[in-house]
Amino acid sequence: MYVIKSTEKMKAIMGNYFRSLETGEKKVAWCTSVGPAELLRSFGFEVYFPENHGALLGATRTAMDVIPEAVKSGYSGHVCSYTTADIGSYLRNETPLKKHYGMKGHPKPDIIAFNTNQCREVQDWFYFFAKEFNCPIVGITPPRYLEEVTQKEVDLVVEQFKRMIPVCEQVSGRKFDEEKFKETVRLSKEATLLWQKVLKTSTAMNAPISFFDGTIHMGPIVVLRGTQVAKDYYTELLAELEDNVKNNVGFLPNARTRIFWEGMPIWGKLRMLSDLFTSNGAAVVASTYCSSWVFDKFDENDPWNSTARAYTEIFINRGEKAKMKMLSDWFKEYHIDGIIYHDSKTCFNNSNAKFGMPQRLKEITGVPALVIEGDLCDLRFFSEGQSITKIETFLEQLEENKVLG
Ligand code: SF4
Repeated sequence: MYVIKSTEKMKAIMGNYFRSLETGEKKVAWCTSVGPAELLRSFGFEVYFPENHGALLGATRTAMDVIPEAVKSGYSGHVCSYTTADIGSYLRNETPLKKHYGMKGHPKPDIIAFNTNQCREVQDWFYFFAKEFNCPIVGITPPRYLEEVTQKEVDLVVEQFKRMIPVCEQVSGRKFDEEKFKETVRLSKEATLLWQKVLKTSTAMNAPISFFDGTIHMGPIVVLRGTQVAKDYYTELLAELEDNVKNNVGFLPNARTRIFWEGMPIWGKLRMLSDLFTSNGAAVVASTYCSSWVFDKFDENDPWNSTARAYTEIFINRGEKAKMKMLSDWFKEYHIDGIIYHDSKTCFNNSNAKFGMPQRLKEITGVPALVIEGDLCDLRFFSEGQSITKIETFLEQLEENKVLG
């Protein structure tokens, strides 16, 4: 059985990270997953990411036990199930953080920061907690759905980032230190470039890391970017995977088809889906989701502009033409035979199959597409039987087309 050995190290790193949030040694900033974490870290905050907790609630399949609690408080069961699961978990004081990491519950925030570059939902979600914990909240609201990100948009975001400084200074009790900020951006850049290389090892025909493995190994790049720990982890993981490529060791040797996953993971069904694809000879080698934490524009010599640009240029914040260009490039780079779109019921923002893009992209690239319906956390919106049938039929057709083609 194929095993990525670094997994144990990654679990230890994530355990230490979660436990560090409760020691009281550092003040805690909550941040959206593609928010200005580097700026917050430069003030000495430990940074906690509620979306990561949402994913944990999904992966442990505890989300559905707690979502009704949020619904009772007025949050629709049809909005982002990270939001409803996280709020419900807090209201019920039930979280896998207790069982898995021995924590008391949600770590108490000293400051909350959000960036609506991904969606407006995070704003409502984070305001709920700012009120609960009676703590300061700062928001970045960049222009959205951009085909091109010009200096005008970057300037706007830089201005908003800079408005965070007085609040961060007051809460942290530290003056802003440009050198510290630069250093954090450098560490973040180095880790994110390593993460990019990790993902690109699967351009090899015998790919060493699947999309499903990627959703696990991305933990440190989400929660620990800007730290030496993240950089060291991806140095080690990359060395292991490059070795595997050199020795022709991969997670599915002789894969018959190579698949791209578009959209959110279905957290509670990762194992089932991973087994389904491999048992049908299909290697899911790339995704928009795992690539979302590649910020290759970071530059410690230009920390404000480069972070503002990198966080505004993310896939989810782009117009259709820009998205299609990025997907077309990935298809070529990873030798993709077919793309699966996860049309997520409660994440409108990260679902790209609602307005005809799969059809238009297929016309341009010739890469066949399948849309499956589901959700990131709320499995009531996922029909397992129906999805298995659709995926198996799609994979069979891909193989037939390859033989005929
Ligand atoms: S991008 Fe989607 S899943 Fe993520 S917070 Fe926004 S609505 Fe929720």
